[in-house]
Formats: sequence, structure tokens, C-alpha cells
Amino acid sequence: MIPYFKNKYLQTLLQCFLLGILVLANLQCVLRPSGDLREFESYFPHENPNSLIQKGKVRVTFLGTTSILLDDGETQVLTDGFFTRPSLWKTAFSKIESDPIILASVLEKAKINRLKGIFVCHSHYDHAMDSPFVAKLTNAKLFGSNSTINVGLGAGLDMANMEEFQIGKPIKLGKFVITVLESKHTPPFRILGKTNATDPDFPNITSPLIQPVKAFAYIEGGTFDFYIQHGKNKIVIKSSTNFVKGAYDKIKADVLFLGIAQLSLQPKQFQEEFFDETIQKLNPKFIIPIHWDNFFKPLDKPLEPNLKLGDDFDANMNALLKRTAKDQIQVQLMQGFETIDLF
Ligand SMILES: [Zn+2]
Ligand SMILES: [Zn+2]
Repeated sequence: MIPYFKNKYLQTLLQCFLLGILVLANLQCVLRPSGDLREFESYFPHENPNSLIQKGKVRVTFLGTTSILLDDGETQVLTDGFFTRPSLWKTAFSKIESDPIILASVLEKAKINRLKGIFVCHSHYDHAMDSPFVAKLTNAKLFGSNSTINVGLGAGLDMANMEEFQIGKPIKLGKFVITVLESKHTPPFRILGKTNATDPDFPNITSPLIQPVKAFAYIEGGTFDFYIQHGKNKIVIKSSTNFVKGAYDKIKADVLFLGIAQLSLQPKQFQEEFFDETIQKLNPKFIIPIHWDNFFKPLDKPLEPNLKLGDDFDANMNALLKRTAKDQIQVQLMQGFETIDLF
């Protein structure tokens, strides 16, 4: 009996050991970037103009995920402003909160000093978490859904410094005119057995959200796109990889900031419709992909593609490039803190 027991024991130990190695190898694999930026180097213009912004021009600075700073030399407008970017480990296993030192350093490095409005596309933490603190530090007004207003209230931001979205009603900030459009979140996906789908019984953040809190406390609360006019020029910022059919029927855009996260993980027909409802309807001169970078990594390091765990950057880019080649639309990628003069 004893040798048998010993054998069985050794066998189980060996099985556990092999299983451990398999799990680790798998984890190693899915925690790698889902693409190689060197393959797409020719799409990075690396322009970074240093001169003063000329009258009538609009300069954009990319600040990772869907944080986009627009600046015409007089007025600055920002989407989301998510800069803290806690690590994957921290986000998965502990409560998270805005880091005032990181926020201050990003504001300084990106020269955010005449910001008038922050527009939050939805209330998941990778969009809404830092926005009220950026509003506090800059005196800019926070615009968002009722859920985002609750993120603001939880951060101690006064209601006077916030405004709830009114779909279709233009907001004038300097020479920028921003119209909020109804949109849809990227289709839900499962990660480590958990879904990020919104619980239909709890679709909104209904009371002030006080940090630190777990990431899942940031409920979507509706998803929105931004149609931004500046003189005769038009910009659309679409953060999520989804669409409301017909939402762009009456508008055109010179520049489209297009969320491409998980695009290639969707069925082919969805991808086609997504392109039809965005690129075909808006007919932009150029497209800047957004929400492609791994937001578990800090913004002061070069941005890397989203992890294999939940995305496929190479396939997303290839799908976009295949579609845009047909219509000869330019695609430009931007690294963190890089700038381009749009018009
Ligand atoms: Zn989201
Ligand atoms: Zn997101």
C-alpha cells in the first residue's frame, strides 16, 4: 500500500506542477501586447509641431485610451482625461483611485492650462475615474451622463462645475461647438469568467461614487459620441467600437477619432456595419484610431497595444486599413503626448 500511495502522491504532485506551468505559460502569453507597433510605424506621423497654434487651426494631443486634447490656441477641450492608469494587478485585486501627482504631471507635460470643458464618453473607470479631479485642477466644466455626474459628486466637485448631457444640444466653448450624440458601448466580452456587460437592473451609477472603489463600481451609464465643429471644420470622436444605426446620417467629419478596441473579435458582419455607419457616413479625410493602448501601463512610458487577454491590435488595424484603402482615407496613429495640427 505504501509504494502505491507514494506513487499516487508523486503523480498528483507532478500533475499539479505541470498544470501550474501550463497556467503560467498561458498567462504569460495573454499578458503580452496584442500587436507590434513596429509593423505600423509608417502610420505614426510623429509630427509634434512646437510652434504657436496659428489662428483658425486646431491642434490635437493624444493622451492614451480615449483622452484627446483639442486646442485652438485660445480654448482647450478634453475627452475623458483618464491618466492614472492603475496596473492590471491593482485594478483586478484592490480598490482604485485617482493619483493627484500623475494628474498634475500630465497637465503640465500636455500644457493643459486653458481647459474649458471635459466630455466623458461613458462612466467605466478607464473613461470617467479621473475626470472630476482634472476638472478641479483646471477649473474646467465636467460634461457627462447622470452616472458621470455621480462620479463628480463623489469626488467633491460642485454641481455648478458640472453639466449633464443633453443629446443633440450644441455646447459652445470658445470657437468649439460640441454636440453630444447617442452611441453604444463596445459589445460585452468575458474575461477570466467575468463579463463586463451592464446589468440591466443596474444600468447607472445612482449615488455619489466616492474613491477608492473597485473598478466594477464604475457602471457604463450610457455611451456617447462627440460631434465637434470649429469654424468650417468638423471632428467626430467615437470612443467605443459600436454604433447606433443612422446616428451619423446628417453629419460629415473631416477627422474621425475611431475606437478600435476588440473590433476584430466581432463577427465580420458587425465589422462591415460598423465601418458603413462610421467611415462611409462621415467620409473623413483622415482617421485617428483610439482606445488601442494597454491602459494598465503608465502614460509616461511609450504606449503599447492592448493585451492579448482581451484584444487583437494587429487584426483591428489590418481590418481598418483594408477598409480605408478602398476609399483612400489616411490613417494616423499617435503615441502618448504626441500632437498633430488637424486643420
Ligand atoms: Zn467601457
Ligand atoms: Zn474603455
